Amino acid sequence: MDIFKYLETYDYEQLIVCQDRTSGLKAIICIHDTTIGPALGGTRMWNYASEEEAILDALRLARGMTYKNAAAGLNLGGGKTVIIGDSRTQKSEELFRAFGRYVQSLNGRYITAEDVGTTVRDMDWVHLETNFVTGVSASGASGDPSPMTARGVWRGMKAAAKEKFGKDSLQGKKVAIQGLGHVGYYLAKHLQEEGAKLIVTDIHEDAIKRVLNEMEATVVGPDEIFGVEADIFAPCAMGAVVNDETIPRFKFAIIAGAANNVLLEERHGDKLHDLGILYAPDYVINSGGVINVADELEGYNRARALQKVDMVYDNVEKVLKIAKEMNIPTYKAADRLAEERIRRLGQIRSTYLRNR
Ligand code: NAD
Repeated sequence: MDIFKYLETYDYEQLIVCQDRTSGLKAIICIHDTTIGPALGGTRMWNYASEEEAILDALRLARGMTYKNAAAGLNLGGGKTVIIGDSRTQKSEELFRAFGRYVQSLNGRYITAEDVGTTVRDMDWVHLETNFVTGVSASGASGDPSPMTARGVWRGMKAAAKEKFGKDSLQGKKVAIQGLGHVGYYLAKHLQEEGAKLIVTDIHEDAIKRVLNEMEATVVGPDEIFGVEADIFAPCAMGAVVNDETIPRFKFAIIAGAANNVLLEERHGDKLHDLGILYAPDYVINSGGVINVADELEGYNRARALQKVDMVYDNVEKVLKIAKEMNIPTYKAADRLAEERIRRLGQIRSTYLRNR
């Protein structure tokens, strides 16, 4: 792998390889961009097939965080860590504390959090060595991000509805939710409260039962969801669900959900644009969780965090405005929003300030 060429192509700042023999730590911290603030991004623990795969994942995810944080209006840059290892068998206090010391050594240029394969307990271990960590259990921490992610998705969905249907009320709108897990369940609750009609699916019976116990919903099979008659499709399970196979089956006017990497490839976003299906870009609409966790950096205040999460509505509106004005697909408009904010804020910093 030609690392410097890759770093230069996407203008990465720093790639740090961390090794600790006693604990077995093998971690890669990637800082993509800190123009607008310290790099915030979680720590993923995964049994990567190769070191190259781990590095590429860290690079890709860190850059994604730059865009997500910038578009969310946070004063944070993008970074990410991957720890190479089996999250079921290779975790230990010493491993996460060794990692915490590396985070501390960056002196605040990078702030970590939970991600796939890591938990609040792991971050508590990291916290014993550094304060540059969020999502810890100590008092004042923000807790499970999923309800806030769901709230953000609901708010973003309303902004999309305003654009598509002329008003942002979801009352009477049919919403198809794929996946009733941490986020899907809370999203269903918001929608139910607003009087939307729910069509739901999940591969786990328990998840469906939990929703049916509390709400009214029509249940369909996991594959059926792509072809149901609904106004809005909310993918809240996995990525790549907008692809060559599913697009011809869509009868939706809007796609707005929590899942990451919803488009299999960018060209599928172009296709949605051509078909007039409004796609609320994944990293903009699912940013409620990171907005919530970022509030910890100022001493967590739930009321303030809620207010900020509600701004996902405004962020989706901004993206839709750019898409309309430039006649470009919304996924491209989201990138423009993020890039433009980074560019402008980078420019104001050209004014010299002493001791800042
Ligand atoms: P989760 O694992 O709690 O829930 C996912 C649900 O989808 C599960 O109930 C699972 O059974 C179901 N599912 C899996 N495959 C399915 C299929 N083929 N058809 C139907 N249902 C299926 O995950 P989550 O935390 O709710 O996250 C959902 C999505 O949102 C993920 O893509 C995640 O990356 C993304 N996301 C989550 C957060 C957050 O705060 N949790 C933040 C940003 C993005």
